[in-house]
Amino acid sequence: MMADSLFTLENAVDAVSGRFVGASCGASVTGVSIDTRTLAGGDLFVALPGEKTDGHAYLKAAFEAGAAGALADVDKWELLPLEIREAGPFILVKDPLAALQELARWYLDRYSSVLKIAVTGSNGKTTTKELLASILRNHRPTYASSGNYNSEIGLPLSVFGLRHEHLFGVFEFGTNRQGEIPLLASILKPNIALVTNIGTAHIGMFGSREAIADEKGGIFSSFDSLSRGLIREDEPFASRLLAGKRGTFGSFGPGSTPGVEKVEYRGLEGSIIHFKGQQIKLRLPGEHNVMNACAAISVAQLCGAEDNSIIRGIEEVSPSFGRSEFISGDISLYQDCYNSNPESLRAGLDTIKSSGWTRGRRVGVFGSMKELGSLEKELHEEAGRVCAASGFDAWFFLGPEARYAYSAYKAAGGNSAFWSAEDVKLKADLLEYVRPGDLVYLKGSRALGLERIAEALQEGS
Ligand code: ATP
Ligand code: MG
Repeated sequence: MMADSLFTLENAVDAVSGRFVGASCGASVTGVSIDTRTLAGGDLFVALPGEKTDGHAYLKAAFEAGAAGALADVDKWELLPLEIREAGPFILVKDPLAALQELARWYLDRYSSVLKIAVTGSNGKTTTKELLASILRNHRPTYASSGNYNSEIGLPLSVFGLRHEHLFGVFEFGTNRQGEIPLLASILKPNIALVTNIGTAHIGMFGSREAIADEKGGIFSSFDSLSRGLIREDEPFASRLLAGKRGTFGSFGPGSTPGVEKVEYRGLEGSIIHFKGQQIKLRLPGEHNVMNACAAISVAQLCGAEDNSIIRGIEEVSPSFGRSEFISGDISLYQDCYNSNPESLRAGLDTIKSSGWTRGRRVGVFGSMKELGSLEKELHEEAGRVCAASGFDAWFFLGPEARYAYSAYKAAGGNSAFWSAEDVKLKADLLEYVRPGDLVYLKGSRALGLERIAEALQEGS
């Protein structure tokens, strides 16, 4: 099947005010790619500088894979061998990343009838996006950015998935530096936007939660008088988030999302949300996921979704890898190791606490939290105290930074504790400790790959 033509090289040249080098600029572009390993024939390849390598080293590979053209840095291009400069059509610019963002802006301008929704916050962005997309797909044709495409590169790339049949588009905004969220807002110009919460994720970069709130509030910076914004009903940074913003604002949560009457928490299996006299079975556990579901329901109502679409949409979502994922077994697992910070640790422990686990013991594996900068010691110590208050039977701490958590855990009078800098030792200690009926909670930053420990437990049990 032929992929749709999104635009021509000539359109792209105009959109980014680039210089065209090649025989003809009439060729169709059917996608945009920054990675030759996943590039499809007909894609426009955008050469971006990376941490380890530079996209300009892959221009030949891009044309061999069938790229329709390449967007490149004019200064780098001029230094390339003639053979590469003649390998295919080029659009030359000063700054390929800025050009990618400009191209996304231009593309979005042609989709002005699509209602665009943006989700940001410290935790729960992807979950909320998936819940909302599931509801809206039951309602009308909807596009949602896939996975975690939420950065200054990921967001612009994700907009090229929009097609004319879509009536709604749902996008995630992430940030790890000041100014990224307002930049993303200036590209997408969302009609509706929400902030899931303000926590400490990436606090190393921002210095304080106030600074994080100022950054996240940037999601409302492109608003006009018709835009709609939503924040949590118990948001402590509400006034900071909304300061100086245009648009109409409301809140979401069990006490303010229209139609939500009460919530029954069913522990690790999920919750029942009583909604307009009906019951919604939310398969994602914990109060934090009820918050995410309420956010999705509030936005869906602004989008005119009927009650049936809301109910079916929420019920169709099951936990995805490492995000509050409960796996029942001989030794049961609660895998929460997709990422980690003190708020999501608290959210996970609260979920387990309210589940009243009685089948066996509760055992925690706490892996280091990354990207905390100068607050690394303080936040690990805080996490150690949170672990000590959890009432768990034992905690296994993994990674050099987790040593601070381990010490604070013991100082706070925590039960049996083990610490190891590397996972081979920790795995052995843990396998020796656990027995059938136990629940093992896994929490740590993505870089730790705690799922390897889950695999060992499943094999060993
Ligand atoms: P990332 O910044 O990595 O993109 P994200 O904001 O998209 O993360 P999710 O992937 O949806 O977040 O969820 C990651 C983890 O955050 C979950 O496993 C859960 O532990 C926790 N979490 C989810 N929602 C909330 C919430 N509303 N409040 C606190 N913690 C939450
Ligand atoms: Mg995410």
